[in-house]
Amino acid sequence: MVILVTGGAGYIGSHTNKALNKAGYETVVLDNLCKGYENFAKWGEFVNCDFGSSDLREVFEKYDIDGVLHFAAFSSVAESVELPQKYFKNNYKNTLNLLKVMREFGVDKFILSSTAAVYGNPEKVPITEDQELKPINPYGHSKWITEKALEREAEKGNFNYVSLRYFNAAGCDFDCEIGELHDPETHLIPLVLDAAIGKRDSISIFGTDYNTPDGTCIRDYIHVNDLASAHIAAYEYLCDKNTSNIFNLGNGEGYSVREIIDMCKKVTGKDFKVEIADRREGDPDILIADASKIRNELGWQPKYDLECIVSSAWKWHQKINSI
Ligand code: UDP
Repeated sequence: MVILVTGGAGYIGSHTNKALNKAGYETVVLDNLCKGYENFAKWGEFVNCDFGSSDLREVFEKYDIDGVLHFAAFSSVAESVELPQKYFKNNYKNTLNLLKVMREFGVDKFILSSTAAVYGNPEKVPITEDQELKPINPYGHSKWITEKALEREAEKGNFNYVSLRYFNAAGCDFDCEIGELHDPETHLIPLVLDAAIGKRDSISIFGTDYNTPDGTCIRDYIHVNDLASAHIAAYEYLCDKNTSNIFNLGNGEGYSVREIIDMCKKVTGKDFKVEIADRREGDPDILIADASKIRNELGWQPKYDLECIVSSAWKWHQKINSI
Protein backbone atom coordinates (compact mmCIF):
# COMPACT_ATOMS: atom_id res chain seq x y z
CA MET A 1 0.00 0.00 0.00
CA VAL A 2 1.17 3.53 -0.67
CA ILE A 3 0.68 6.95 0.87
CA LEU A 4 -0.50 9.63 -1.54
CA VAL A 5 1.41 12.88 -0.97
CA THR A 6 -0.34 15.76 -2.69
CA GLY A 7 1.95 18.73 -3.19
CA GLY A 8 4.93 16.43 -2.66
CA ALA A 9 7.00 18.46 -5.15
CA GLY A 10 6.60 21.59 -3.01
CA TYR A 11 8.57 22.81 -0.04
CA ILE A 12 7.03 21.04 2.98
CA GLY A 13 5.60 18.16 0.93
CA SER A 14 8.98 17.22 -0.56
CA HIS A 15 10.74 17.22 2.81
CA THR A 16 8.01 15.03 4.29
CA ASN A 17 8.02 12.75 1.25
CA LYS A 18 11.76 12.26 1.62
CA ALA A 19 11.37 11.50 5.34
CA LEU A 20 8.55 9.02 4.66
CA ASN A 21 10.66 7.13 2.13
CA LYS A 22 13.66 7.10 4.46
CA ALA A 23 11.35 5.66 7.14
CA GLY A 24 10.36 2.82 4.79
CA TYR A 25 6.97 4.03 3.52
CA GLU A 26 6.09 3.82 -0.17
CA THR A 27 4.69 7.02 -1.60
CA VAL A 28 3.08 8.44 -4.71
CA VAL A 29 3.60 12.16 -5.15
CA LEU A 30 0.76 14.00 -6.83
CA ASP A 31 1.58 17.53 -7.93
CA ASN A 32 0.55 19.74 -10.86
CA LEU A 33 3.91 21.59 -10.62
CA CYS A 34 2.21 25.00 -10.49
CA LYS A 35 4.46 25.75 -7.51
CA GLY A 36 6.50 22.58 -7.07
CA TYR A 37 9.53 21.19 -8.90
CA GLU A 38 9.66 17.75 -10.43
CA ASN A 39 13.22 17.21 -9.20
CA PHE A 40 11.96 17.76 -5.63
CA ALA A 41 9.77 14.65 -6.07
CA LYS A 42 12.58 12.17 -6.42
CA TRP A 43 11.40 9.75 -3.75
CA GLY A 44 8.54 7.38 -4.57
CA GLU A 45 6.55 7.70 -7.80
CA PHE A 46 5.59 11.01 -9.34
CA VAL A 47 2.24 11.77 -11.01
CA ASN A 48 1.59 15.13 -12.63
CA CYS A 49 -2.06 15.77 -11.74
CA ASP A 50 -4.21 18.46 -10.17
CA PHE A 51 -6.00 17.22 -7.06
CA GLY A 52 -9.07 19.21 -8.09
CA SER A 53 -9.34 17.54 -11.50
CA SER A 54 -11.43 14.61 -12.69
CA ASP A 55 -8.16 12.75 -13.50
CA LEU A 56 -7.70 12.16 -9.78
CA ARG A 57 -9.92 9.05 -9.93
CA GLU A 58 -7.43 7.36 -12.25
CA VAL A 59 -4.69 7.79 -9.66
CA PHE A 60 -6.86 6.12 -7.02
CA GLU A 61 -7.68 3.35 -9.52
CA LYS A 62 -4.03 2.74 -10.34
CA TYR A 63 -2.51 2.74 -6.85
CA ASP A 64 -3.50 0.92 -3.68
CA ILE A 65 -3.70 4.03 -1.52
CA ASP A 66 -3.76 3.63 2.26
CA GLY A 67 -3.97 7.31 3.18
CA VAL A 68 -3.41 10.85 1.97
CA LEU A 69 -1.06 13.57 3.19
CA HIS A 70 -2.49 16.72 1.68
CA PHE A 71 0.11 19.47 1.24
CA ALA A 72 -1.10 20.86 -2.10
CA ALA A 73 -2.45 24.36 -1.45
CA PHE A 74 -1.72 28.03 -1.96
CA SER A 75 -0.16 29.55 1.14
CA SER A 76 0.67 33.22 0.70
CA VAL A 77 -1.23 35.45 3.11
CA ALA A 78 -0.61 38.55 0.99
CA GLU A 79 -1.77 36.90 -2.23
CA SER A 80 -4.86 35.55 -0.51
CA VAL A 81 -5.86 39.09 0.44
CA GLU A 82 -5.52 40.10 -3.24
CA LEU A 83 -7.11 36.97 -4.71
CA PRO A 84 -9.43 35.38 -2.13
CA GLN A 85 -11.36 33.27 -4.66
CA LYS A 86 -8.16 31.58 -5.81
CA TYR A 87 -7.60 30.44 -2.23
CA PHE A 88 -11.16 29.29 -1.55
CA LYS A 89 -11.26 27.37 -4.82
CA ASN A 90 -7.95 25.55 -4.51
CA ASN A 91 -7.58 25.13 -0.78
CA TYR A 92 -11.22 24.39 0.04
CA LYS A 93 -13.26 23.41 -3.01
CA ASN A 94 -10.59 21.24 -4.60
CA THR A 95 -10.03 19.49 -1.27
CA LEU A 96 -13.71 18.51 -1.34
CA ASN A 97 -12.99 16.80 -4.67
CA LEU A 98 -10.13 14.89 -3.06
CA LEU A 99 -12.35 13.85 -0.13
CA LYS A 100 -15.08 12.70 -2.51
CA VAL A 101 -12.67 10.47 -4.42
CA MET A 102 -11.19 9.14 -1.17
CA ARG A 103 -14.69 8.18 -0.03
CA GLU A 104 -15.41 6.49 -3.34
CA PHE A 105 -12.29 4.34 -2.99
CA GLY A 106 -12.66 3.73 0.75
CA VAL A 107 -9.44 5.58 1.69
CA ASP A 108 -9.97 6.56 5.29
CA LYS A 109 -6.82 8.34 6.56
CA PHE A 110 -6.11 11.98 5.85
CA ILE A 111 -3.60 14.54 7.11
CA LEU A 112 -4.27 18.20 6.39
CA SER A 113 -1.61 20.89 6.19
CA SER A 114 -3.45 23.49 8.22
CA THR A 115 -2.07 26.72 9.58
CA ALA A 116 -1.76 29.01 12.58
CA ALA A 117 -3.54 31.55 10.37
CA VAL A 118 -6.83 29.90 11.44
CA TYR A 119 -6.45 31.66 14.83
CA GLY A 120 -6.29 35.21 13.45
CA ASN A 121 -5.21 37.54 16.25
CA PRO A 122 -5.31 35.05 19.15
CA GLU A 123 -6.74 36.07 22.50
CA LYS A 124 -3.77 34.58 24.35
CA VAL A 125 -0.34 33.27 23.46
CA PRO A 126 1.04 30.62 23.41
CA ILE A 127 -1.98 29.46 21.41
CA THR A 128 -3.74 26.25 22.36
CA GLU A 129 -5.82 24.29 19.86
CA ASP A 130 -9.08 25.04 21.69
CA GLN A 131 -8.89 28.80 21.13
CA GLU A 132 -11.62 30.36 19.06
CA LEU A 133 -10.84 30.40 15.33
CA LYS A 134 -11.11 33.89 13.88
CA PRO A 135 -8.95 34.04 10.75
CA ILE A 136 -8.15 37.55 9.53
CA ASN A 137 -7.09 36.64 6.01
CA PRO A 138 -8.58 34.46 3.23
CA TYR A 139 -5.72 31.95 3.46
CA GLY A 140 -6.55 31.23 7.11
CA HIS A 141 -10.25 31.20 6.31
CA SER A 142 -9.81 28.68 3.49
CA LYS A 143 -8.04 26.27 5.86
CA TRP A 144 -10.57 26.83 8.63
CA ILE A 145 -13.50 25.79 6.46
CA THR A 146 -11.49 22.83 5.17
CA GLU A 147 -11.04 21.70 8.80
CA LYS A 148 -14.81 22.04 9.24
CA ALA A 149 -15.41 19.88 6.16
CA LEU A 150 -13.09 17.23 7.61
CA GLU A 151 -14.92 17.31 10.94
CA ARG A 152 -18.21 16.62 9.15
CA GLU A 153 -16.64 13.89 7.02
CA ALA A 154 -15.31 12.16 10.14
CA GLU A 155 -18.73 12.40 11.78
CA LYS A 156 -20.13 10.37 8.89
CA GLY A 157 -17.79 7.52 9.90
CA ASN A 158 -15.12 5.37 8.21
CA PHE A 159 -12.85 8.36 7.91
CA ASN A 160 -10.28 9.87 10.26
CA TYR A 161 -8.07 12.87 9.89
CA VAL A 162 -5.33 14.78 11.63
CA SER A 163 -5.13 18.49 11.03
CA LEU A 164 -1.67 19.92 11.65
CA ARG A 165 -1.71 23.66 12.22
CA TYR A 166 1.73 24.74 11.10
CA PHE A 167 3.35 27.80 12.53
CA ASN A 168 6.19 29.21 10.36
CA ALA A 169 7.90 26.46 8.39
CA ALA A 170 11.52 27.30 7.68
CA GLY A 171 14.95 25.75 7.10
CA CYS A 172 15.96 23.14 4.53
CA ASP A 173 17.07 19.56 4.02
CA PHE A 174 20.51 19.05 5.58
CA ASP A 175 21.73 17.22 2.43
CA CYS A 176 20.65 20.22 0.34
CA GLU A 177 18.81 17.96 -2.12
CA ILE A 178 15.63 20.03 -1.72
CA GLY A 179 14.83 23.32 -0.08
CA GLU A 180 12.68 26.42 0.05
CA LEU A 181 12.23 27.88 -3.44
CA HIS A 182 9.10 29.94 -3.96
CA ASP A 183 8.44 32.09 -6.99
CA PRO A 184 7.83 34.83 -6.11
CA GLU A 185 9.44 34.47 -2.68
CA THR A 186 7.45 36.17 0.07
CA HIS A 187 8.75 34.47 3.22
CA LEU A 188 10.96 36.30 5.64
CA ILE A 189 14.00 34.03 6.07
CA PRO A 190 14.71 33.38 2.35
CA LEU A 191 14.21 37.08 1.62
CA VAL A 192 16.65 38.09 4.34
CA LEU A 193 19.12 35.53 2.96
CA ASP A 194 18.64 37.08 -0.50
CA ALA A 195 19.83 40.35 1.04
CA ALA A 196 22.75 38.55 2.71
CA ILE A 197 23.83 36.99 -0.57
CA GLY A 198 23.48 40.28 -2.45
CA LYS A 199 20.49 39.30 -4.61
CA ARG A 200 18.55 42.23 -3.19
CA ASP A 201 19.77 45.56 -1.88
CA SER A 202 17.91 45.44 1.42
CA ILE A 203 15.26 43.72 3.49
CA SER A 204 12.07 45.56 4.43
CA ILE A 205 10.45 45.14 7.80
CA PHE A 206 6.69 45.21 7.28
CA GLY A 207 5.57 47.34 10.21
CA THR A 208 7.27 48.42 13.44
CA ASP A 209 4.14 49.45 15.33
CA TYR A 210 2.81 46.03 16.30
CA ASN A 211 1.94 45.25 19.89
CA THR A 212 5.26 43.46 20.59
CA PRO A 213 8.40 44.46 22.55
CA ASP A 214 10.33 45.70 19.47
CA GLY A 215 7.22 46.59 17.43
CA THR A 216 7.78 43.92 14.76
CA CYS A 217 5.67 40.79 14.32
CA ILE A 218 6.53 37.71 16.33
CA ARG A 219 6.32 34.24 14.81
CA ASP A 220 7.16 30.68 15.85
CA TYR A 221 9.61 29.22 13.32
CA ILE A 222 9.81 25.45 12.98
CA HIS A 223 12.31 23.43 10.96
CA VAL A 224 10.74 21.72 7.96
CA ASN A 225 12.31 18.39 9.03
CA ASP A 226 10.54 18.70 12.39
CA LEU A 227 7.31 19.20 10.45
CA ALA A 228 8.16 16.08 8.44
CA SER A 229 8.70 13.93 11.53
CA ALA A 230 5.41 15.20 12.98
CA HIS A 231 3.59 13.99 9.85
CA ILE A 232 5.04 10.52 10.27
CA ALA A 233 3.97 10.50 13.93
CA ALA A 234 0.48 11.69 12.89
CA TYR A 235 0.23 8.99 10.25
CA GLU A 236 1.19 6.30 12.75
CA TYR A 237 -1.45 7.71 15.09
CA LEU A 238 -4.11 7.39 12.36
CA CYS A 239 -3.01 3.80 11.70
CA ASP A 240 -3.14 2.85 15.39
CA LYS A 241 -6.16 4.78 16.64
CA ASN A 242 -9.58 4.98 15.13
CA THR A 243 -9.96 8.70 15.81
CA SER A 244 -9.35 12.20 14.46
CA ASN A 245 -7.40 15.04 16.03
CA ILE A 246 -6.02 18.54 15.61
CA PHE A 247 -2.52 19.60 16.67
CA ASN A 248 -0.47 22.77 16.64
CA LEU A 249 2.96 22.34 15.11
CA GLY A 250 5.48 24.84 16.37
CA ASN A 251 8.57 25.12 18.54
CA GLY A 252 6.72 27.10 21.19
CA GLU A 253 9.17 30.00 20.94
CA GLY A 254 8.57 33.34 19.28
CA TYR A 255 11.03 35.52 17.38
CA SER A 256 10.40 39.01 16.07
CA VAL A 257 11.22 40.08 12.51
CA ARG A 258 14.18 42.04 13.90
CA GLU A 259 15.45 38.98 15.81
CA ILE A 260 15.24 36.90 12.61
CA ILE A 261 17.26 39.51 10.74
CA ASP A 262 19.87 39.54 13.54
CA MET A 263 20.11 35.73 13.47
CA CYS A 264 20.57 35.79 9.67
CA LYS A 265 23.36 38.36 10.05
CA LYS A 266 25.03 36.19 12.70
CA VAL A 267 24.80 32.93 10.73
CA THR A 268 25.86 34.39 7.38
CA GLY A 269 28.42 36.85 8.72
CA LYS A 270 27.03 39.38 6.24
CA ASP A 271 25.70 42.86 6.81
CA PHE A 272 22.99 44.44 4.68
CA LYS A 273 20.53 47.30 4.66
CA VAL A 274 17.31 47.01 6.69
CA GLU A 275 14.42 49.32 5.78
CA ILE A 276 11.16 50.05 7.51
CA ALA A 277 8.06 49.59 5.35
CA ASP A 278 4.30 49.74 5.89
CA ARG A 279 2.46 46.89 7.51
CA ARG A 280 1.50 44.01 5.23
CA GLU A 281 -2.25 43.51 5.27
CA GLY A 282 -3.48 40.42 7.10
CA ASP A 283 -0.53 39.99 9.51
CA PRO A 284 -1.39 39.28 13.18
CA ASP A 285 0.95 40.68 15.88
CA ILE A 286 2.05 37.45 17.54
CA LEU A 287 1.69 33.76 16.68
CA ILE A 288 3.36 31.31 19.06
CA ALA A 289 2.28 27.69 19.44
CA ASP A 290 1.49 25.87 22.59
CA ALA A 291 2.68 22.57 21.15
CA SER A 292 2.21 20.53 24.32
CA LYS A 293 -0.75 18.60 22.89
CA ILE A 294 1.23 16.99 20.07
CA ARG A 295 4.17 16.35 22.41
CA ASN A 296 1.91 14.62 24.93
CA GLU A 297 -0.35 12.71 22.58
CA LEU A 298 2.04 11.77 19.76
CA GLY A 299 5.32 11.86 21.67
CA TRP A 300 6.70 14.19 19.01
CA GLN A 301 9.51 16.63 19.86
CA PRO A 302 11.02 19.33 17.67
CA LYS A 303 14.79 18.87 17.34
CA TYR A 304 16.02 22.05 15.68
CA ASP A 305 16.40 25.60 17.02
CA LEU A 306 16.39 28.91 15.17
CA GLU A 307 20.14 28.93 14.53
CA CYS A 308 19.94 25.48 12.95
CA ILE A 309 16.92 26.59 10.89
CA VAL A 310 18.77 29.61 9.52
CA SER A 311 22.05 27.68 8.98
CA SER A 312 20.33 24.98 6.92
CA ALA A 313 18.44 27.61 4.90
CA TRP A 314 21.72 29.48 4.29
CA LYS A 315 23.46 26.33 3.05
CA TRP A 316 20.65 25.73 0.55
CA HIS A 317 20.60 29.39 -0.43
CA GLN A 318 24.30 29.31 -1.23
CA LYS A 319 23.83 26.15 -3.28
CA ILE A 320 21.01 27.51 -5.45
CA ASN A 321 22.77 30.81 -5.90
CA SER A 322 26.04 28.88 -6.45
CA ILE A 323 28.65 30.93 -4.69
N1 UDP B 1 8.05 40.03 6.76
C1 UDP B 1 8.77 41.21 6.67
N2 UDP B 1 9.45 41.47 5.51
C2 UDP B 1 9.43 40.61 4.45
C3 UDP B 1 8.70 39.40 4.55
C4 UDP B 1 8.01 39.14 5.73
O1 UDP B 1 8.80 42.01 7.59
O2 UDP B 1 10.05 40.94 3.43
C5 UDP B 1 7.33 39.73 8.00
C6 UDP B 1 5.84 39.48 7.81
O3 UDP B 1 5.12 40.69 7.80
C7 UDP B 1 5.53 38.59 9.02
C8 UDP B 1 6.83 37.81 9.24
O4 UDP B 1 7.84 38.53 8.53
O5 UDP B 1 5.31 39.39 10.15
C9 UDP B 1 6.76 36.40 8.70
O6 UDP B 1 6.26 36.47 7.37
P1 UDP B 1 6.28 35.25 6.39
O7 UDP B 1 5.72 35.72 5.08
O8 UDP B 1 7.64 34.62 6.36
O9 UDP B 1 5.31 34.17 7.04
P2 UDP B 1 3.77 34.28 7.53
O10 UDP B 1 3.84 34.61 9.00
O11 UDP B 1 3.07 35.30 6.71
O12 UDP B 1 3.26 32.90 7.30
